[in-house]
Amino acid sequence: MTALTLDGKAASAAVKADLTERCARLAERDVVPGLATVLVGDDPGSHAYVRGKHKASAAVGVKSFRHDLPADTSTEKLLDVVAELNADPEVDGYIIQLPLPEHLDAGEILMAVKPDKDADGLHPVNLGRLALGLPGPRPCTPLGIQELLVRNDVPIAGQHVVVVGRGTTVGRPLAMLLSLKEPNANATVTQVHTGTRDIASYTREADIVVVAVGRIGFITADMIKPGAAVLDVGITRTEAGLVGDVAPEVRDVAGWLAPMPGGVGLMTVALLLRNAVEAAERRAGI
Ligand code: NAP
Repeated sequence: MTALTLDGKAASAAVKADLTERCARLAERDVVPGLATVLVGDDPGSHAYVRGKHKASAAVGVKSFRHDLPADTSTEKLLDVVAELNADPEVDGYIIQLPLPEHLDAGEILMAVKPDKDADGLHPVNLGRLALGLPGPRPCTPLGIQELLVRNDVPIAGQHVVVVGRGTTVGRPLAMLLSLKEPNANATVTQVHTGTRDIASYTREADIVVVAVGRIGFITADMIKPGAAVLDVGITRTEAGLVGDVAPEVRDVAGWLAPMPGGVGLMTVALLLRNAVEAAERRAGI
């Protein structure tokens, strides 16, 4: 068996096409969704991510605002920028690009973000809303994983999903999202991590395996049930480029495979934009 590809390029293009239409409908009511980024310092990787977010915004009709600050920006100055964005009626959502320079406390800064403008969906209030199944911006990478499954008709409800990793941006919120009692979720979710004995005994039972660890080749073919969906989220930077957590031979066993690169990563930006557009729709009363 050769796995069908869960193609992040195609699925993210479809999400963006939908957002383009929604932005056009908002424009008829004189509402333009606004997304801002805050970048502190000159980390080249962060600059590339931020550039990508602005380019993607422009392509769908989201107006973007860029705040690039020097690496020695003080906590007070950064909190002033956050307060400005919280108050700015043109900004429906914004992100603080991480990592921040070491002298800044990311937790303190993120807590100051107005939860309804938290486009990343990672503010503690929004993680709490997610845990309770309440509406609010949801974390973009887990949303992207859900969307990639849905757009490829991979069943989720009633399936056994094994999430490898319990990080705050991917593993932990994904387990909460896919176990919610709502459409496109309602799965049985097992979360495994460094405290788990015999991880393979869980992954072999799974209908869907999502791997967000950051270790090359962590998931091998013998750990996968034939026909299962496998989504590679982990990223390791090597001299040869970015490499995921899933060994290449998994493609011969799995039914579906979201490769890295080319899978989930492309979805994350699309779902960030969707969070901003949804906030603008709420502003417009849609
Ligand atoms: P993180 O907070 O460092 O979490 C990594 C998780 O992997 C932890 O829960 C850790 O377990 C687990 N882990 C590490 N080694 C393990 C092992 N040997 N056995 C079992 N579990 C192990 O990272 P993150 O922010 O969640 O991100 C995870 C990966 O996804 C990273 O590679 C990151 O670059 C990538 N990522 C990709 C995207 C995308 O859009 N494609 C977005 C965000 C992140 P413990 O908790 O027990 O230590």
